[in-house]
Amino acid sequence: MPEAELEQERIMEINGRTRTCGLIGNPVEHTMSPAIHNTLARIYGHDLAYLPFHVPAGGLEEAVKGAYALNFLGLNVTVPYKSQVIPFLKETDPLAREIGAVNTLVRVEGGFKGYNTDMPGLWRAMCQDNVALEGQKVLILGAGGVARAVALLAVRKGAGEVILLNRTLEKAQAVVEEVNALTGRTAARALALQEHAFLPAGEKYLAVQATNVGMYPRTQEAVIEDQSFYEKIQVGYDLIFNPARTRFMSLVEESGGRAWNGLKMLLYQGIIAYELWTGAEVGQAQAQEAFQAMKRAMGIL
Ligand code: NAP
Repeated sequence: MPEAELEQERIMEINGRTRTCGLIGNPVEHTMSPAIHNTLARIYGHDLAYLPFHVPAGGLEEAVKGAYALNFLGLNVTVPYKSQVIPFLKETDPLAREIGAVNTLVRVEGGFKGYNTDMPGLWRAMCQDNVALEGQKVLILGAGGVARAVALLAVRKGAGEVILLNRTLEKAQAVVEEVNALTGRTAARALALQEHAFLPAGEKYLAVQATNVGMYPRTQEAVIEDQSFYEKIQVGYDLIFNPARTRFMSLVEESGGRAWNGLKMLLYQGIIAYELWTGAEVGQAQAQEAFQAMKRAMGIL
């Protein structure tokens, strides 16, 4: 086994000063976050252990209070608790409040402060991939929690136009109203999914795939199949990371576009959380090492 993997395999030394971080959610069994955080702790020599904690329905408040009482340094929060956790926090960062979802808790005096690192994580991933938003025409497929955050990001980063395409048009319209009100711009608008046919031919869009369609185990599905849609896509960013190559990505590439998956967003939301907990500034080489550890844990390396 190569040295890097051997190192990875070594059992972490826990001692009396080891600080605890972790993930709360339901389910948590398939999480890749321990690979990210425990690798970073090893690289930086931080005496920190990161563990998954399955919190059953009805147990969220007790879990947050218990983690504080047990001197936890911080927590990540995943489905279905990202919005539900907000009332149990001491403070909420303005960006997380605006997004309406918290995925990172940082210990402060008297409780935890909630942050959202998903949206900044996506932005760092896009910067790494040389995907610009400024002046771009952006399509967002979906109008759920993540699509709303992506729409805010795109408008804030100066996208020329942001169109949300969703199965349920009313949901997309509600998100558009909120995003335009929050940003003071009118850059966002909504379309029903099948109305993609009205997008002008010859136009080139950046499309962010923010629906659940195509996720494991239904990997043969894409939210739009029509090839004429993909001819309008210059860059396709699928937020799904399992599978690592989605049908949406294949369709984008088959029509000559460039495509990315959601693995780097996942990595950077974790890295930003780690930076909030420890004050470290994670460099490129260290991020790459954590990325490799995450991919090994997923069995795609
Ligand atoms: P959500 O709030 O449940 O929203 C789901 C969206 O998918 C809705 O717009 C829904 O449309 C649409 N949808 C679901 N099934 C559909 C179908 N059969 N046909 C058409 N549309 C369908 O989910 P979310 O939390 O925003 O997450 C969205 C995606 O982001 C997921 O794939 C998740 O894996 C990914 N994600 C990635 C990361 C990362 O780090 N890479 C982080 C978080 C989430 P309706 O409104 O019509 O129901």
